[in-house]
Amino acid sequence: MQEKQREQAARKDRLPKDMAEVVLHLVEEVGEVCEAIREGQPREYFEAEVADVLWQLNKLCWMNGFDLERAFLAKLEKKERG
Ligand SMILES: [Mg+2]
Repeated sequence: MQEKQREQAARKDRLPKDMAEVVLHLVEEVGEVCEAIREGQPREYFEAEVADVLWQLNKLCWMNGFDLERAFLAKLEKKERG
């Protein structure tokens, strides 16, 4: 997932430059998910907005040199023990 996203961003000259900007986009996309729920938007629309959240979150992870899936699995394991 990271490699595909990063490759596409590089190819389209859209590599993120500023972490704060990515976080702002992430928050914006979470807002769009809320809006989709509040407005009762069709499922496909809701799914696309949730994917946008993952898109920004994943970007934030690879900008900072870690893999989202690995971090998620580490958290899952920690919660299993806790
Ligand atoms: Mg969106």
